[in-house]
Amino acid sequence: MNIKELPNAEGFFGAYGGKFVPETLMKALAELEEQYNKLKQNTAFQKQIDKDYADFVGRPSPLYFAERLTKKYKGPKIWLKREDLNHTGAHKINNTIGQIILAKKMGKKRIIAETGAGQHGVATATVAARLGLECHIYMGAEDVERQSLNVYRIKLLGASVHPVKSGTATLKDALNEAIRDWVTNVEDTYYIIGSVTGPHPYPMIVRDFNAVVGRELQEQSRKQFGKLPSAIVACVGGGSNAMGAFYPFLSNKRVDLYGIEADGRKREKAKHSATLTKGTPGILHGALSYLIQDSKGQVLPTHSISAGLDYPGVGPEHSYLKDIGRVKYFPVNDESVLEAFHEVSRLEGIIPALETAHAFAALPKIAKLYSTKDNIVVNVSGRGDKDIATVAKVEGLTLE
Ligand SMILES: *Cc1c(COP(=O)(O)O)cnc(C)c1O
Repeated sequence: MNIKELPNAEGFFGAYGGKFVPETLMKALAELEEQYNKLKQNTAFQKQIDKDYADFVGRPSPLYFAERLTKKYKGPKIWLKREDLNHTGAHKINNTIGQIILAKKMGKKRIIAETGAGQHGVATATVAARLGLECHIYMGAEDVERQSLNVYRIKLLGASVHPVKSGTATLKDALNEAIRDWVTNVEDTYYIIGSVTGPHPYPMIVRDFNAVVGRELQEQSRKQFGKLPSAIVACVGGGSNAMGAFYPFLSNKRVDLYGIEADGRKREKAKHSATLTKGTPGILHGALSYLIQDSKGQVLPTHSISAGLDYPGVGPEHSYLKDIGRVKYFPVNDESVLEAFHEVSRLEGIIPALETAHAFAALPKIAKLYSTKDNIVVNVSGRGDKDIATVAKVEGLTLE
């Protein structure tokens, strides 16, 4: 089977994926899959999404030549795919725009979503406001404390925030609560998942909506440097920005693909978020995929300096791409991420998100493998404004 035709009819990418959910959700997932497959072929649906991408998000995002980074690494030309310039400051809006139009077409009146650091909550509340749909965001109580700015943003946009106190009161608990809401209100409610995770058909849907990034990249690279890139580098949390950038290139083996994971602190080896590099297969949130767990299958605590990468699971398609070797995954630690965060800010005048800084932190290792004839693209998944207080605090400053 062509790699780009996955998942198969049961929702599997090789051994990974599927739908491991309560019986009450099987019908809702089947309905979603059927409607999506129908609308995917519909030109009016696609046109509406393209119009929103252009007028509301500001697409296409530029492919920008990073002159000073290129000089520094002395080898391949380095280009930046500027998803940080999207409305709301990251790639996440590519997915929420698509899913909310899908929800509206399916006649759903109520939108729910989970959020960790709050970025997916903001992207969801934004599109719900625009279409005038009732919106509820589930967020771990711990995260509500830590991410007060995003909590306030979500409320400004007219959505309700529901703090979740169970478990560790973080993202995975918020996800459980969102699923509980969906089970109860499945008739009128649409659940917008924020990454290429969860049960089939979500990993496929979220990938397809983010694939606009890879498609633009194909066109822009041909136009701007006359060929396809030699390599694309992206950070991997759940894996949606990486999957979106990689997907159109999967069957072209001449384009090397690198997924960069969060290795946590250098000195604290037990806690990290490097799911693909250091995890083992298991079931979490409705799908079989690599997972950070102990030998008894208990999910282990994770850590990353970047809230958006701090998740014990990963999208099932990435697990498959790792096993077949099509994408190379490796982790970088918090310390090198902070260094990259400063370097890109100073050299390029672009303050990247801490998630994105993981991709930049991999450049010293990757650039060495290529020559001056090569072009490397870094997917700049988001901007770093949201992370400035975190970085200042880690470096011993407090901002008022
Ligand atoms: C949420 C987020 C990520 C991580 O999510 P993926 O699904 O792995 O892309 C990466 N970068 C930014 C800026 C984010 O907000």
